[in-house]
Amino acid sequence: MSESDFNINIEDIREDGLHLTFDDTASCRGFDADLPEDIGIGGPLYAQADFFREGRNIHLSGKIRGVLLLRCHRCLGQCSEEIEKDFYYLLQPHEDDDTQELREVSLGADDLDIWNFRHGIIRLDEIFREQLLLQVPLKVLCSSDCRGLCPGCGRDLNREECCCETVDDTSPFAVLKGFKVSG
Ligand SMILES: [Zn+2]
Ligand SMILES: [Zn+2]
Repeated sequence: MSESDFNINIEDIREDGLHLTFDDTASCRGFDADLPEDIGIGGPLYAQADFFREGRNIHLSGKIRGVLLLRCHRCLGQCSEEIEKDFYYLLQPHEDDDTQELREVSLGADDLDIWNFRHGIIRLDEIFREQLLLQVPLKVLCSSDCRGLCPGCGRDLNREECCCETVDDTSPFAVLKGFKVSG
């Protein structure tokens, strides 16, 4: 597969629709090049896309399934997140493409995702990437009880003990060493 397999010409979407499956989206050249640095893809990324035309509008329902490789916000270690997501888009020609186009679309639903395409080409890789990024949790944690890095010595507290007391005698808190809280 190559990058161009993701460029869908709307002329190829016939009366009975166009149905595509990708067993390993991520292996396609260039697919993960546009992902942020701290987001990777672990293993095969399955993706599916079903297109239907309705006048000049195109309905796309799809699915992505795979594993994202992320960086824990606390300990900076790598962790993975299994994802499986169905999505839906209403695809419309970009306004610059065809200004005389009348759009007979009811924009009632709040969760309606509209995607504009240009020159009759739908960039499916961009849509898949957007869906992947939407699956990244706001706070990425390798586990809910990750202890993170010590802000003093920088050690990963999941794996080793903090060594601040022994190395950092210049810390303003060093003077407190030896004090015991009574009670
Ligand atoms: Zn962590
Ligand atoms: Zn420490």
